[in-house]
Amino acid sequence: MKTHAQAVVIGGGLVGCSILYHLAKLGWKDVILLERDELTSGSTWHAAAGIHGLHDNNNISKIQYYTMKLYEDLEKETGQGCGIFQPGSLYLAQTADREHQLRMQAAKAKYFNVDFHELSRKEAEDLHPLVNFDGIRCIMFEPDGGNVDPSGVTHAYAQGARKLGAEIHRFTPVTATTQRPDGTWDVETTKGTIHAEVVVNAAGLWGREVAAMAGFELPLMTMEHQYFVTETIPEVEELGRRLPSVADRDGEYYLRQEGLGLLVGAYEKDGRYWAENGTPMDFGHELLPDDLERIEENIMRACERLPVLAEAGIKRVINGPMIWSPDSSALFGPVPELRNYFCCNGIIPGFSQSGGLGLMLAQWIVEGEPELDMFPWDMARYDDWATKSYTKARALDCYANRFKIHFPYEERDAGRPVRTRPVYERQKEMGAVFGLNYGWEHPLWFARNGVAPVDEYGFERQSWFQPVADECAALREGVGVIDVSNFGKYSIKGPGAAGWLDRIVANKVPTEIGRSCLTPLLGIRGGIAGDFTITKLGEDDFMMVGSGMAERYHRRFFSMVEKPAGVEMISLTSAKAGFNVAGPKSRALLQRLTNEDLTNETFRFMRSRRMQVGGIDATAIRVSFTGDLGWEIYVEEADQLALYDALFEAGEDLGIRPVGGRSLLSLRIEKGYGSWGREYSPEYWPQEVGLDRLIKLDKPDFIGRDAYVELKDKPARYKLVMLDVDATNADASGGEPVFLTDGTPVGQVSSGAYGHSVQKSLALAFVKTEHTAPDTEFDVAILGLPHRARLLEKPPFDPAGERLRA
Ligand SMILES: Cc1cc2nc3c(=O)[nH]c(=O)nc-3n(C[C@H](O)[C@H](O)[C@H](O)COP(=O)(O)OP(=O)(O)OC[C@H]3O[C@@H](n4cnc5c(N)ncnc54)[C@H](O)[C@@H]3O)c2cc1C
Repeated sequence: MKTHAQAVVIGGGLVGCSILYHLAKLGWKDVILLERDELTSGSTWHAAAGIHGLHDNNNISKIQYYTMKLYEDLEKETGQGCGIFQPGSLYLAQTADREHQLRMQAAKAKYFNVDFHELSRKEAEDLHPLVNFDGIRCIMFEPDGGNVDPSGVTHAYAQGARKLGAEIHRFTPVTATTQRPDGTWDVETTKGTIHAEVVVNAAGLWGREVAAMAGFELPLMTMEHQYFVTETIPEVEELGRRLPSVADRDGEYYLRQEGLGLLVGAYEKDGRYWAENGTPMDFGHELLPDDLERIEENIMRACERLPVLAEAGIKRVINGPMIWSPDSSALFGPVPELRNYFCCNGIIPGFSQSGGLGLMLAQWIVEGEPELDMFPWDMARYDDWATKSYTKARALDCYANRFKIHFPYEERDAGRPVRTRPVYERQKEMGAVFGLNYGWEHPLWFARNGVAPVDEYGFERQSWFQPVADECAALREGVGVIDVSNFGKYSIKGPGAAGWLDRIVANKVPTEIGRSCLTPLLGIRGGIAGDFTITKLGEDDFMMVGSGMAERYHRRFFSMVEKPAGVEMISLTSAKAGFNVAGPKSRALLQRLTNEDLTNETFRFMRSRRMQVGGIDATAIRVSFTGDLGWEIYVEEADQLALYDALFEAGEDLGIRPVGGRSLLSLRIEKGYGSWGREYSPEYWPQEVGLDRLIKLDKPDFIGRDAYVELKDKPARYKLVMLDVDATNADASGGEPVFLTDGTPVGQVSSGAYGHSVQKSLALAFVKTEHTAPDTEFDVAILGLPHRARLLEKPPFDPAGERLRA
């Protein structure tokens, strides 16, 4: 065994082998995979290995289509069979919501130029004569759907990697990983130590144990999962051809042909944890005791749909463990607190995603950043707030609701609350319905006037539509208080602080005390990795505010530039709370609580001041995300409740009202303001989202500068535009494809909402630049159906920006 390698991948399951293959493919040939046992010894060997392409999330769809295509290429490249069957998949809708979901997927398929189309019952019966289609209101067909051979695919990746020069060592468990001062790693095994520049944790069921070797924790929980395979079914045999798989998600089971019988699996409501406290090191090619009674209800529903199943004998039952993250998506990417350590763990649909995840991780390692925005899978979306009890509760919830429809704006209750602030109970008394933001409970909307404080979900407008309309009106006409405590907040102090920040962000850091600036943070490929407000509070004393959910993600960037001795950066996110007090009467309200002069002449837009509000020490920054006059007021967390009460007491006669996150969404969209994670993403270039004006190339050095210089003169591929949509009962919420009126796909929605103060259904969308002339008409697929939309040249609310500067 070699003693040095560019990268060591720990884990020879499907995913580790894909990462190894893609590293070698991108030119890193001096790479080694270490496997404890035989290849496939974790979840991989016993998987049902179903594959499909379309997903609710557009980037996952890209990853899944890439993976399906790759299996064919791998067979050709390596000669190793992957056991690919692609007889297609039938998707069935029993409810109106499921029909909306499938129609939306069909619309997205047109955008991706892939095949996912509706079938008549007759056509479906011809394809799968054994299915009883009674009660099915809509049938879609994905011709690419099918399954692969788990072992074949894993070995094909392994062969492909070996051919490119990579090494694989089986029966070589990793026992320790130790970082050297220069950031490289010693990977100890039972057969010796390898000195590696980069380590990848792809240890699947043992992801937690391998992470612990490097001193960090992954929020993962192992669960049992069962499927069974029947004996030969004569009716299947007689057909003499491969039947399509059946995705009857409302029935909560999956079903496909296996041999001349059928394979049926289910995610039961009464799921079981396995090896909660750690996967045993000696667990190998074993199965867990089966318990089909647990999935009996699901099986009964499958038998109603395919009556031949009820008569079939069971040949074998598989009960195997799989490992879940709190939201069932991968924990992916470099560990922000470590150098040169990458994770790819918690992968549930591994056979649909292995190729794309392997490629994205290899790009991250070799090129510094993946080409797609991976934030929804980025391990940095969790931090130590994702405790074991939270992870456990969420894993069970994800497992039991695997096939449930995920509606726009859906919030799940399991495992909550994990992080609350002092005003939590007060906000509850005021009718707050909370959402989860990076662990924090934060108000989404406030129920009043007999409306139940309960979130209902659906693709159409829900019970919160009117309360949100009222909140928006209260803010636009008087004053509203938005809890912004969940924003990411940082203090940067010490001699050299400004210079250090200037080498991180793309705009110039303010030089005058009391000034604020908006600035993008560029990614390694020159896209938008963040947007911040930086305020100079004093000499060598700055406060920075950015996306709260991206706090750990941004840590990676802050550690890319060495901090001068004496500069200290600390997160204030937990220690400080904040409210955005906004609306035309916000000045009158705050003036009642402070002796400072808040007139426009003395406290201008984008200025800040340390001052007392209601007798509480605060930092006030005059910024606006609502498009209205307003201040963000930050105080010690312990003073949060006193400030909240003081604001409401003083503002009663001004019509003050608590305003939640859903209203903020509507208010910012009326102004055309982008938000990180939606409009601002490393995938988009600054000139595509209108942030190029904030990039100062006369600064010699900042993160992403060189990449931006390379792309700045290229024409924007897409433009971020605002659309006025003819919608009556459902608004765009993000991800909807945008078509020209002749059906040509030209873009997709990034955010959408009803603009209550302008009485328009609005969407922010990325549209191919050549189709962004004023007044161009489009069709936006809402509920999967075309809704006519017009491009607005200016934001419909206060286009001149007079209100926020008033
Ligand atoms: C019953 C069942 C059915 C499933 N059906 C499907 C399906 O239909 N479609 C689908 O896409 N997915 C399915 N899955 C999920 C799929 O199996 C996983 O997504 C996939 O196998 C994950 O692969 P992995 O490489 O991440 O992990 P694993 O397969 O767990 O591999 C991890 C590897 O790391 C090795 N390892 C661990 N620790 C060390 C160490 N210290 N040193 C060296 N090596 C180490 C292990 O031995 C193992 O080989 C199913 C899973 C189960 C349980």
